[in-house]
Amino acid sequence: MTRPGRFCRLWLLLLWLPVWSAGAKAALATTPAPILDLTAAERRFLADHPTLRVGVGSGQPPFQTIIRTPGAAPRYVGLSADMLDAIAPLLGVALVPAFDVTFTRALELSQTGGIDMFAGITDTPGRRAFLHMTRPYASHPYVMVTRQGGHDVRSMADLGGKVIAVSPTFYAYERLQLEYPDLGARFDFEKNALDTMAAVANGQADACFLNIVAATSIIRDQGHDNLRVTAVMSWPNNDICMASQHPLLASILQKALDAIPPDRKRAMTATWFAGSPGTSRPSISQPRLLAGAAAALAVLAAAGWWWRRRLRAEAARRKAMEIDLGGHKEMLEAVLNATSDAILVLDDTYHVVMINNTGAERFGLKAEAMLGRGVLELIDAPVAAARRERYRQVQAAGQPVRFTDQRAGRVYDNTIYPIPAAGGRPRLAIYARDITEQLAADVAVRESQERLATIFRLAPVVVSITSLTEGRYLDVNEAFCALTGFSPEAVIGRSNQELGLWLNLADRDRIFRAIERDGLVRNLELSLRMRDGRLVTTLLSCTPIEAYGQPCLLSIVVDITGRKSMEEALRLAKESAETANQAKSRFLSTMSHEIRTPMNTILGMVDVLRGTPLSERQQDFLRTLEVAGESLMALLSDILELSKIESGSLQLAQSPYDPVEVLNHTAALLAPQAEAKHLALRVELAPDAPRQAHGDPDRIRQILVNLAGNAIKFTSHGEVCLRLDLSPAHFAREHLLFSVSDTGIGIPPEKHQTIFQPFTQVDSSTTRSYGGTGLGLAISTFLADGMGGRLWLDSAPGQGSTFYCAVPRDCRLRRDQEKTDLPDSNAPTPPPLARHHSLLVVEDSEPNRNLYDAFLEGLPLAVRYAVTGAQALECIESGSFDAVIMDIQLPDLDGLTVIQEIRRREAAYGRPATPIMVVTAYAFREDSGRAEAAGADVLLTKPIQKSRFLAALGRLLDDSGTPAAPEA
Ligand code: ADP
Repeated sequence: MTRPGRFCRLWLLLLWLPVWSAGAKAALATTPAPILDLTAAERRFLADHPTLRVGVGSGQPPFQTIIRTPGAAPRYVGLSADMLDAIAPLLGVALVPAFDVTFTRALELSQTGGIDMFAGITDTPGRRAFLHMTRPYASHPYVMVTRQGGHDVRSMADLGGKVIAVSPTFYAYERLQLEYPDLGARFDFEKNALDTMAAVANGQADACFLNIVAATSIIRDQGHDNLRVTAVMSWPNNDICMASQHPLLASILQKALDAIPPDRKRAMTATWFAGSPGTSRPSISQPRLLAGAAAALAVLAAAGWWWRRRLRAEAARRKAMEIDLGGHKEMLEAVLNATSDAILVLDDTYHVVMINNTGAERFGLKAEAMLGRGVLELIDAPVAAARRERYRQVQAAGQPVRFTDQRAGRVYDNTIYPIPAAGGRPRLAIYARDITEQLAADVAVRESQERLATIFRLAPVVVSITSLTEGRYLDVNEAFCALTGFSPEAVIGRSNQELGLWLNLADRDRIFRAIERDGLVRNLELSLRMRDGRLVTTLLSCTPIEAYGQPCLLSIVVDITGRKSMEEALRLAKESAETANQAKSRFLSTMSHEIRTPMNTILGMVDVLRGTPLSERQQDFLRTLEVAGESLMALLSDILELSKIESGSLQLAQSPYDPVEVLNHTAALLAPQAEAKHLALRVELAPDAPRQAHGDPDRIRQILVNLAGNAIKFTSHGEVCLRLDLSPAHFAREHLLFSVSDTGIGIPPEKHQTIFQPFTQVDSSTTRSYGGTGLGLAISTFLADGMGGRLWLDSAPGQGSTFYCAVPRDCRLRRDQEKTDLPDSNAPTPPPLARHHSLLVVEDSEPNRNLYDAFLEGLPLAVRYAVTGAQALECIESGSFDAVIMDIQLPDLDGLTVIQEIRRREAAYGRPATPIMVVTAYAFREDSGRAEAAGADVLLTKPIQKSRFLAALGRLLDDSGTPAAPEA
């Protein structure tokens, strides 16, 4: 059964009660019910609403109150109940009083349709906002009631600091709020008029404001002898009406009220307002006719057992519902207390009605202690004033307000919601979130964003953000504008293509391909065209980011145009330096040839001259001539060597060799010099001195000859020792450690570094005393470096010196295998020529031809000379030769070209290859490679000594396969 249906029956049941119907029955009996003049809509409304739920008030005698007796159904009595009783038959529908909700709750329910109408309600402007009122059926002024003998309160002016008992839903309270906002009184909230009066009577409050009839009736009925009506208020009368949120029902009610005969109305009013004792009006405190009620119940006993059973069931159901509601209440409290937001409900004078634990903690109190406290009294004055203003604003506008304020060093985000209260100012629900930390975090984020924005804006490199999909600029920094010449306004929203920045549109695809492949782009070189048409070379780095709510590309561009042009300038400078160096090398090469050729002749002639009969004096002259010539050749060799190294054209051989043999060979070479100075020359080998190594033994020997030569030169007595150690400890790789020590003059420490520089000696007088150019150590250092080794010394003046040279035992690890040299011209001398040979000598220089004549004189050779390349080829064509001696620099053809041609023809005609010896003044090692490539068998470098030349020639002729025969 639905609730309205159940209460409908209760109401119908009540209508049978004698107490209820006593007066009404009489009226009904005397006045037949007129038929209401209802409109079609009104009739339809009643037809659609066979049951109307009525909101009823309590504790407002004599207008209305509810009498609850244990074990019995509640009863609604008073003038309003009688009025309802009078109109119910006229409407023909069931009027069901809502006993299960308070009047306050009924007011709220009326806005949602939970209540259809009110029986006795005070007409207030606030209630008119949602209720349609009938005209009043009772109207009386308000009075102020105070306590005799209490505080001396006679007028409103005396209420400052006093307590006023009010019911929040009463219009009196609304008026006090509206008209006396600065009253300075505190409110003591009570449920209804009865309680309000009781509060003043027992000293809990100092005054209350009520309808004069209600006030006097309660004083009389409750025996409040200490209360008195102090003042009649000048407010509008307290109008008691019926009301409904449905305008149609309000109009129907008005018609029904109008239809109550005036005499019946008067009778009802007289019944309830009769002031004299002994009146016949029903007494509420002592309900009369209880016996009659019992009798009525007895009459109903036949049908009663069923109703009682239903009532018990209803009572049980209600109990269960209360328990259930209690559970819900606990759950609600738990939920409210679980939040870190403060939640509180204030009554319309800002006293706490409900508060969760968080809210109470913010005031340093328990939730229970907060209840009933004026919340603004707990807050510092300035904050309280501002909040009071907000509260009023919400109450006035009926709209929620959200604002932020600070209290006790914390920042709160507050939202205030109005809770509508029928007839009074709305109560307030407040949610306050502590946003102090969040604000601090927001500030930190904002500051960091500002910092980043500043960095972005002022960064000296070009930074931009573009949308990933369309490549449109979303943001650019100042450097971007400075470089491109575009203003930010001109750029934002446009793409590179629209701005004409791409020089090559394919670059765009390159960038996207790189991002797809690697996720980002790093230092991609690309050229861009600026606004003024200028081309700029840039390095682009970019990475996808999320910005402006979309996928974007953050790009950083560095202008490397200047760097590029500098690199280009450097490259050109290097090229021109290399060209200059090559020119220098060529000059040195030519100079070498030009000086060495005549020197060669001079020294050759000295050699030849020595074989002729000479006087002793002439022999002295010859020796001087030879020494001077040789030192000039040595100087020339050193300068050429150094130039060659500096020009980077030094090439080191890679071959297996025996380091001990190199050491011994050096000692053998220098033995005569040591002997001449009566110095002991020793070779010392460490026990682990290796016999196998890989590298350039000639260059190592060259270094050792220089070091040992110096040692002999700067030592007047004592010894010079050459030593070999294996030195794994000092170097990452196994190294050969050669050392040359002497007992000579020694070197001061400050010169230990400088003597390795070219043309540097310990002192200038050295040249005079010891000779030398100061180039030997510089060349040795270069050579050691070139082999991946190094040179250093240990010496002190007067205590001799030890020079160390460390080179990797295996130089292949350092450089690629290089071409091996042509056969060593210093190889052991072969047996003398055993038979007659034919020899072609290609030489353009007459002095050199004479020299060859002198060298070859007396040998079993038929020598033919050619002075040009062409002549040489002719000779080869016209005759056969056992060997050819070839100069490289010829007037017409290059000697090497001539050799190539000879080889080509030999191959073409199937002739055996003629042994060819190249004799050149070009001292560069790479010449040997070129000569070999051209087809030469032996390379001999000028100046040539007779013995070296003849030995080489002997090997050449022997290698030709000609059987050796004794000289004829
Ligand atoms: P040079 O010997 O032709 O002058 P070097 O470069 O070989 O050129 O040597 C440079 C200088 O180092 C020498 O002039 C000499 O002053 C000093 N020097 C080299 N070796 C020795 C040594 N064993 N004892 C003393 N001084 C030396």
